[in-house]
Amino acid sequence: MTAATETRKFEAEVAQVLHLVTHSLYSHKEIFLRELISNASDACDKLRFEAIANPSWLAGDAELRIDVSIDKDARTLSVHDNGIGMSRDELVANLGTIASSGTRRYLESMSAENRSDSRLIGQFGVGFYSAFVVADEVTVTSRGAGDNGNEGTRWHSNGKGEYSLETVSDVPRGTTVTLHLKEDEGEFLDSWKVRSLVSRYSEHIGFPIRMLKEGEGKPTAEWETVNSASALWTRPKNELKDEDYQNFYKSLSHDFSDALSWTHNRVEGNQNFTSLLFVPAKAPFDFMQGREERKGLKLYIRRVFIMDASEQLLPAYLRFVRGVVDSDDLPLNVSREILQQNRQVERIRGACTKRVLDLLDKLAADDAGKYSTFWNAFGGVLKEGIAEDAGNRERIAKLLRFSSTQSDGPAPSVSLDDYIGRMPLGQDVIWYITADSYAAAKGSPQLEALKAKGTEVLLMSDRIDEWMAGYLTEYSGKKLRHVGKGEIELDAAASEAQKASEEAAAPVVARIKQLLGERVRDVKVSRRLTDSPSCLVLDEYDMALHLRRVIKQSGHEMPEANPTLEINPKHALVKRLEAEGNEAKASDLAMLLLEQAQVAEGAQLEDPSAFVRRMNRILLG
Ligand code: ADP
Ligand code: MG
Repeated sequence: MTAATETRKFEAEVAQVLHLVTHSLYSHKEIFLRELISNASDACDKLRFEAIANPSWLAGDAELRIDVSIDKDARTLSVHDNGIGMSRDELVANLGTIASSGTRRYLESMSAENRSDSRLIGQFGVGFYSAFVVADEVTVTSRGAGDNGNEGTRWHSNGKGEYSLETVSDVPRGTTVTLHLKEDEGEFLDSWKVRSLVSRYSEHIGFPIRMLKEGEGKPTAEWETVNSASALWTRPKNELKDEDYQNFYKSLSHDFSDALSWTHNRVEGNQNFTSLLFVPAKAPFDFMQGREERKGLKLYIRRVFIMDASEQLLPAYLRFVRGVVDSDDLPLNVSREILQQNRQVERIRGACTKRVLDLLDKLAADDAGKYSTFWNAFGGVLKEGIAEDAGNRERIAKLLRFSSTQSDGPAPSVSLDDYIGRMPLGQDVIWYITADSYAAAKGSPQLEALKAKGTEVLLMSDRIDEWMAGYLTEYSGKKLRHVGKGEIELDAAASEAQKASEEAAAPVVARIKQLLGERVRDVKVSRRLTDSPSCLVLDEYDMALHLRRVIKQSGHEMPEANPTLEINPKHALVKRLEAEGNEAKASDLAMLLLEQAQVAEGAQLEDPSAFVRRMNRILLG
């Protein structure tokens, strides 16, 4: 050990930062460990990279690692790494000045007055200096990996304006940061406490973090690795087996079953990040309620766990996704607030959204069985994206599945592309109907004319469908139309016939209108009916009746909006009404036409007993 000790002053800004950090990070003081381990891991990363060109730098000690040790008697906690290390000049440059880019950004972005706003500093990477939150003295001993011999440098400071440097011998490669803990920071001498912090923050640091095994309350001489030491997502895809992914998925999600599929990607360019995103096979039991508090996507920054950032990194309609995003560029101390308005985060979110949609596309194309598992679990959630994500609307629409008049049973298996593929020449509209239930949709009289023509109609009966359909007005250049809303266009020949039929039926239409009065908006000759005598229709932009009912039931005021009653003049019931001379009997028949249409649509009759009496009068003649 040489006698010469050199004392230097910190750069003026360092003194400021030190003051700030020690006074403002107190409520999050344990982050110092995360910062020191992160630096150690960076140092290992750097050496690993350098060793590609200079393999000799790793010689003799090739297993990169981080050792955390505690000396209760000396009241010290040390973090040692055998990474890249620092020369004397580097110690001066890195620890004597504002080296951390995050800290510098912080200082630059703050005016002199609000620099002391303690809440703000937590949003930037405070790095090494956070050691002084819990330590009254910090010693850093280091030897650069490229330096020959075993001499290194010891840096020492109490964080009060000055630091000292001396040359020391017998220094192993890398860096040891030793914290002499303040009087009331004894908790960081507790090995279990430290272990739990390591596993909380650094489980997936890609290097082994070791601590000495405990024996009878005392550390033994044997090291054990306390983290999993492998950041799975950082490993090349071709080295990973499905089983690795599935195990990782389970530990991440606490799901007992396998994931349905996943996508693992590394993005390099302006911004570097890795994403590993899983689609589960089924929804956790409390899933649907989870729209507010979303969880399951972990944000790492350079393999240090930062927080669950599902809400920031994925739109709500993809909240079933589980996984990890690991950014190289975000500052380690990024806060939730910053994440919400950060342009880099926005880009990551866009990229993750695209990855998941790609994954679902691929699943749909490659494995219909798996896709239908997905659809049954999360289709209802994905539908929200039609309204929420206008930019990806077409892509999401492609992923939708419906039942239709041409599929067997209620299982949703028809895509919009399937539908378009079956459209006959001359049809330019995608027809659908929304209703309370599959049966109500399938049996709706509104479909009759289209069914008779062989036109396929999508049957929508999810609660969300009516709302979704309001946003899904077009797909692949084709308009979507509700069969129960608006006018149905007819070709020239049919149009002539319709005109004639309307003229012939004008008197009975007028009579029904008069008999029903305010109960209906209008009465018209239908273009939709073939078998049934009547149905209810809405204007193109009216809200579906079943949705109105849901809203009313949940206690909201809805302005009255009576539907239009369409009648089928060919039906015997209408003909009977036409011929009925008795006004009271005609009124019963008109009411019955309306009530039938209401029942077919799924409505509750306003006065069921009056309906029953009316029915009986008619039946008994
Ligand atoms: P940041 O990690 O954001 O750069 P820090 O304040 O944490 O900021 O660290 C400052 C610098 O000190 C690092 O950039 C690095 O160059 C150096 N440094 C800190 N710890 C180590 C270490 N264990 N090994 C090598 N260099 C280190
Ligand atoms: Mg750091």
